[in-house]
Amino acid sequence: MSKIVMKFGGTSVADLDRIRHVASLVKREVDRGHQVAVTVSAMAGETNKLVGWTRELSPLHDAREYDVVVAAGEQITAGLLAVALSAIGVSARSWLGWQIPVRTSAMHGSARIESIDPTLMNERLAQGQVAVVAGFQGIASDNRISTLGRGGSDTSAVAVAAALQADRCDIYTDVDGVYTTDPRIVPKARRLEKIAFEEMLEMASLGAKVLQTRSVEIAMLYRVPVRVLSTFDSDAGGTLLCDEEDIVEKKPVTGIAYSRDEAKITLRRIPDQPGVAATIFGPLADAGVNVDMIVQNVSEDGRKTDLTFTVSRSELARALDAIEKNASAIGYKDVTSDGDVAKVSIIGIGMRAHPGVAQTMFRVLSEKGINIQVISTSEIKVSVLIAEEYVELAVRALHSAYELDEA
Ligand code: ASP
Ligand code: MG
Repeated sequence: MSKIVMKFGGTSVADLDRIRHVASLVKREVDRGHQVAVTVSAMAGETNKLVGWTRELSPLHDAREYDVVVAAGEQITAGLLAVALSAIGVSARSWLGWQIPVRTSAMHGSARIESIDPTLMNERLAQGQVAVVAGFQGIASDNRISTLGRGGSDTSAVAVAAALQADRCDIYTDVDGVYTTDPRIVPKARRLEKIAFEEMLEMASLGAKVLQTRSVEIAMLYRVPVRVLSTFDSDAGGTLLCDEEDIVEKKPVTGIAYSRDEAKITLRRIPDQPGVAATIFGPLADAGVNVDMIVQNVSEDGRKTDLTFTVSRSELARALDAIEKNASAIGYKDVTSDGDVAKVSIIGIGMRAHPGVAQTMFRVLSEKGINIQVISTSEIKVSVLIAEEYVELAVRALHSAYELDEA
């Protein structure tokens, strides 16, 4: 007998028929003798609707009330799935974040899980009752409902699995696993049988939308065996997240991710002296703007230089505002920005052992006439910033160049 956590995303619980289907998948595991906790998302489209309503009433709404509203989607599906399970003779009850409790920080709208008490759930699981957990939500240190940021029910599921010390966490979604890249752009993309935690972490944070980044961090930290598989074809293989050592054949590149949520800011003729980076990035941090890639040029005369960095497109206006407010302290000549850029990244633990991987990327892009605006690297990834109109071309060309195309 094992203890397993099953997670179902929005499309998997989009209507009552699908909820019935999910109930049958849960029953199958119960009938195999497993203890089962299920984490659910809101019905597809529901969270967007709730977010929209809140914004429509007031763009500057209180984030605590936003959480009260958007957490409601998961409350509904948790209750409905418990009802559907009981209707087919499976003992089940719903659990809201505060009932478990799932304790989080008070950063409303993007709270972090601080602890999950497994005691009450474990008692019920031992009695053979299925725990249906409302994903995405918790109770904050200010004693109010919190949510974990968009896509956060993945994180709920993996964190529940870690707290329950589950044998595995199965993430059921509308695709049958993690692909080498987005199959909507590259029809020849292949499903990966296994992917290392580190690679998945890069894939998720660099734009692949299969799993929330934070869920992968937790899986990696607590060594939770996570599988991504399809609700609609649950016998198809899926993808297993595992330790690097468990991957035998390490290709130089495992996957290609892209993100269109990028914008570039360039400050020209800033003083080339100690402390100038702090005068630029300090105000951005204070304004809550996340800076991603940064390049500073070597100055020609030793006195003035140029600096380029990227932020997410939704934060461009706030970033420019923070820069312009500090114009005299920074001392730049002019500032320009470009919201039509995108980031393409190649990822693979095999990169450590294969020299020349980045060079292939640069060559392929140049052959396609694509200009690279900014580059950033880590041990297992290379990212480039390019004009957004070339994203699809770049991803396709790289996918072939690294021999990732389905034969
Ligand atoms: N329902 C939430 C969202 O749409 C959480 C999730 O689905 O993971 O972001
Ligand atoms: Mg999701």
